[in-house]
Amino acid sequence: MTDSNCLFCKIISGGIPSYKVYEDEQTYVFLDIGPVSKGHYLVVPKNHAVDLQSGTADDACYCLRTVHKTASVVMDALGATGYNLGLNHGVDAGQEVFHTHFHIMPRYAGELRGFTKLSPADHELAEVQQLIEAKMKEAGLWN
Ligand code: 5GP
Ligand code: ZN
Repeated sequence: MTDSNCLFCKIISGGIPSYKVYEDEQTYVFLDIGPVSKGHYLVVPKNHAVDLQSGTADDACYCLRTVHKTASVVMDALGATGYNLGLNHGVDAGQEVFHTHFHIMPRYAGELRGFTKLSPADHELAEVQQLIEAKMKEAGLWN
């Protein structure tokens, strides 16, 4: 199930490039290009649904399984010591992209835990992606 007008469906299909973090049969994971912390990434179900409540319970579970699988590897890759998990449901909650997505925001000892967007250069996002890809490979989680 995809929506040809949906930004994240286009990212999942490769029509729009992304900094891939992880992928399995049910979910796709990539860096947020407007991160609030180094390594901020998004977990999305491959099935299009505009939000968590419109999608299936199975897709919600697959996403959380992917959060569980990936978060330790990403923290390890980047030297993060924690993370915030978030989901904006609906316009009034700040949702801007209408394809279900969980935000995982790695956190670092001694750093402020703000939600202000940073503006990393492409090469900085690429470096973060490379560190994560290497750790995913070590963990046997890259495909
Ligand atoms: P929302 O506010 O809907 O929960 O979050 C949408 C997120 O998608 C934002 O954090 C924003 O930075 C991110 N985003 C928007 N457009 C793109 C894009 O083209 N590529 C990537 N990787 N992230 C995007
Ligand atoms: Zn979609």
